[in-house]
Amino acid sequence: MKKDEGLLIVLSGPAGVGKGTVCNALRAVDDSINYSVSATTRAPREGEKDGVNYFFKSEAAFKEMIANGELLEWAKYVNNYYGTPLQNVTDTVQTGADIILEIEVQGAAKVRERYPEGVFIFLAPPDLSELRKRIEERGTENSELIDERMSVAQAEIEMMAQYDYVVENDDVAKAVQRIRSIVEAEHCRRDRV
Ligand code: 5GP
Repeated sequence: MKKDEGLLIVLSGPAGVGKGTVCNALRAVDDSINYSVSATTRAPREGEKDGVNYFFKSEAAFKEMIANGELLEWAKYVNNYYGTPLQNVTDTVQTGADIILEIEVQGAAKVRERYPEGVFIFLAPPDLSELRKRIEERGTENSELIDERMSVAQAEIEMMAQYDYVVENDDVAKAVQRIRSIVEAEHCRRDRV
């Protein structure tokens, strides 16, 4: 990444953690960041607009985008394809503006491979740190009741380790503030170079 390029910020995390909600809240208070509009094969939900929420594509059209190298990353999630159009991301960072990709974890890992200088933020569920403590103390605490949740949490914790930052989503406004602080800090860090 060149000094005057914008930041490519990836906001990811487990299903149901509230990535969309936090991203929308961030958009409402911070218009200095651009948001990548993904392509998807899923049907639009009520109120969603093509080109605003997603670029809604047929499976054939989506596969053509993959074949033409038009996607920075893509993933299959609950029977639908989702992917980040590459050109918009490249154009945005090259003009010096920041862009956020709100994507699931497989896609985030692919972006990491192609764009390691990105800023990778993991949005974590609020009880993950508590669960983590329990996992660490597993020898003493062996209740079957929490075993299943712990194994899910364990997988999440392992993913979390691949990110630059972990933001706990205990409160949407706080999560937004933490993300803004991260973005500001990353600017200060890169401006030094
Ligand atoms: P939804 O169908 O609820 O809008 O999104 C389902 C999941 O797909 C969410 O976790 C969302 O973050 C993720 N997603 C949205 N766009 C993309 C994308 O371009 N790439 C990847 N890998 N995931 C995406």
